[in-house]
Amino acid sequence: MGIVRVALIGLAIWVIWAVVKHVRLRKLEFQQKKHSAPPIQRMQQCRLCGVHLLENEAYKDSDSFFCSKSHYDKYSSIRSKKT
Ligand SMILES: [Zn+2]
Repeated sequence: MGIVRVALIGLAIWVIWAVVKHVRLRKLEFQQKKHSAPPIQRMQQCRLCGVHLLENEAYKDSDSFFCSKSHYDKYSSIRSKKT
């Protein structure tokens, strides 16, 4: 009976070790996936001065991008004078 008990305890320890190892591996894979793919940010060009900047930092007007509100205003005034 003694050897069966030792075998069962050994088996239980092995099962617990395998489960912990699996959970740690899954957690590590999840963390690597989360950090490996940063969001792609597109570059846009200011319609007035031509400087390139990230789309989320640009001042957007329908289909045009500007580096600042002042360039947007300046471009708008130039465009309104032409029409
Ligand atoms: Zn500009």
